Amino acid sequence: MKRVLVTGGAGFIGSHLCKRLVENGDEVICADNLFTGSKKNIEQLMDYHNFEFIRHDVTKELLVEVDQIYNLACPASPVYYQYNPVKTIKTSVLGAINMLGLAKRVKARILQASTSEVYGNPIVHPQPEEYWGNVNPIGIRSCYDEGKRVAETLFFDYHRQNGVDIKVIRIFNTYGPNMNPNDGRVVSNFIVQALKGEDITIYGDGSQTRSFCYVDDLVEGMYRMMNSRDGFTGPVNLGNPGEFTMLELAHKVIALTGSKSKLLYMPLPQDDPTQRKPVIDLAKKELDWEPKIALDEGLRFTIDYFNKII
Ligand code: NAD
Ligand code: UDP
Repeated sequence: MKRVLVTGGAGFIGSHLCKRLVENGDEVICADNLFTGSKKNIEQLMDYHNFEFIRHDVTKELLVEVDQIYNLACPASPVYYQYNPVKTIKTSVLGAINMLGLAKRVKARILQASTSEVYGNPIVHPQPEEYWGNVNPIGIRSCYDEGKRVAETLFFDYHRQNGVDIKVIRIFNTYGPNMNPNDGRVVSNFIVQALKGEDITIYGDGSQTRSFCYVDDLVEGMYRMMNSRDGFTGPVNLGNPGEFTMLELAHKVIALTGSKSKLLYMPLPQDDPTQRKPVIDLAKKELDWEPKIALDEGLRFTIDYFNKII
């Protein structure tokens, strides 16, 4: 049995990870300020003796005795991370410093939930871990992208300078139950709009691509990375290499929900990446991991979830 801290544990991905760890029998502490997460996501875990919730902001220090730390705290939806951009970058940077400081003190292994956004609007396609990215340092997405890039830098400097046992994953677009129906991300927007019979909002001409990973696949990859061999730090891409345009996604959602919704074209937000697809050879080799759930199947599970809650 391990003592595990999950920051951002009441969010979409964090809540699935906490469930997985609790069911493993680990002693789980979930620390979250509930900015984009909610107690509802973790309410079923509250009954477990090996689960504990602390309302905590990672920009402040936290002292707990743990063996492993998963650092997920950070809003992930463009709408929410742009709501208070200064707070977003503080969360990534001060959050990383505080959690790395804790890992150093208590000699815990620490995993950073980084992102495909470190590749920015990628010129290299698909994206391997060696690619350094194409990121605007002063745009409206920079608070998130550059915050995550600095967090990666801090992880590697604490590793080289202080010997902290780090693991870094770069998560590509992930979806599934427990996404906030109002958080503005594409999968939740399209499904909620389709179920309500509202127009489906396509930003730009809908030709931009993303690669969508179902949350159970991602959590399996995160768990394997945390428990991977000593000395393997990553960064490692975790995502589903299936690549779809937003128009293709909209048509899939309409077909799977049987909706009569029409497409509504809206302006493309500034710096919206035109393409994204992970190379996952490293995850296959080091973690023996690859996603198992195809987009259609994952969308069905997600549609079932939204059908229940809206
Ligand atoms: P989410 O917004 O649902 O979860 C983030 C959680 O962090 C929320 O519970 C929120 O309340 C909490 N949080 C935010 N600021 C905090 C702070 N200052 N202190 C404490 N808690 C704070 O998003 P998610 O999709 O579950 O993402 C989880 C992590 O994975 C994030 O770090 C995100 O950057 C990363 N990620 C997600 C995706 C994706 O597609 N979902 C892709 C790449 C990276
Ligand atoms: N998008 C869209 N309609 C929406 C929400 C998003 O067309 O209602 C597009 C968005 O412009 C982007 C893609 O879908 O090209 C993925 O957006 P999301 O916010 O989910 O994630 P990210 O841009 O961070 O990958």
